[in-house]
Amino acid sequence: MPQYLGDGSIEVGVYITQPHDWAENLSLNTQNIEAIKKVILDEFEGWAPELLQFIRHSQNAEFRPLYMLPVGWTWENRPGVTLIGDAAHVMTPFAGQGVNLGMQDAMMLSRAIIKGANSPAPKDALSNEIKSFEKDLFIRAKETATLTNDLRTMFFFSGLLRSVIEQVVLHHCLLSPGFIEIISGKNVTRLPHLLSQVPFLLPHAFRDHILDDVIDEIQFK
Ligand SMILES: Cc1cc2nc3c(=O)[nH]c(=O)nc-3n(C[C@H](O)[C@H](O)[C@H](O)COP(=O)(O)OP(=O)(O)OC[C@H]3O[C@@H](n4cnc5c(N)ncnc54)[C@H](O)[C@@H]3O)c2cc1C
Repeated sequence: MPQYLGDGSIEVGVYITQPHDWAENLSLNTQNIEAIKKVILDEFEGWAPELLQFIRHSQNAEFRPLYMLPVGWTWENRPGVTLIGDAAHVMTPFAGQGVNLGMQDAMMLSRAIIKGANSPAPKDALSNEIKSFEKDLFIRAKETATLTNDLRTMFFFSGLLRSVIEQVVLHHCLLSPGFIEIISGKNVTRLPHLLSQVPFLLPHAFRDHILDDVIDEIQFK
């Protein structure tokens, strides 16, 4: 998964599922970039050479385990302290939403503090505002963690890539219909209607018909 960074470089993430101590047990010298790249390349033997170039040409390489809190994680309110960002809802990066959620937390928390501080009884009001903020955070975090978790399972699949791309796009759309407009730059007026018809519980053959319409609409073909 290559990602352009602000300085013009490209960060490439390759994801594999292994036991937690797998990288540690390889006993590789962390300075030996070529040895690390070889281990990664071996994991992707037989993949398209164009994709493997991303690994071959990397100037750095390291193993990092990914952690997540359980989906729907909450905590008891404690006066005087709250959490935002990854501290509140660390999740894997498969929906690419962690920073967005963290920035939204910061905005919502600042609103809660301003509202509480401006009320006639600021101490109680602030405490109540923070409780409401946390309740809302739990809902938003659960939605995003659910999406992240669904996408996590889709990233490790066997089968046709196209079917997974559609599923990933659809999952993003279901959580935030504006997503497609942002990535396609198109005004997709029919999309909400099409999405409302996606019968996830029906057999694949029925579902694929509607998915094709969705993909046509956003002109991914
Ligand atoms: C591979 C990967 C790709 C990702 N891609 C995306 C993406 O495309 N889009 C997206 O929205 N999100 C993405 N994320 C998630 C995103 O990076 C995080 O959600 C975000 O960085 C969380 O911000 P934060 O400020 O809450 O925590 P952090 O960025 O972890 O910041 C916490 C800071 O606190 C510091 N700290 C820790 N302990 C202490 C201490 N005791 N004293 C002082 N300082 C301390 C840490 O050093 C760190 O600087 C990705 C994450 C990963 C791992």
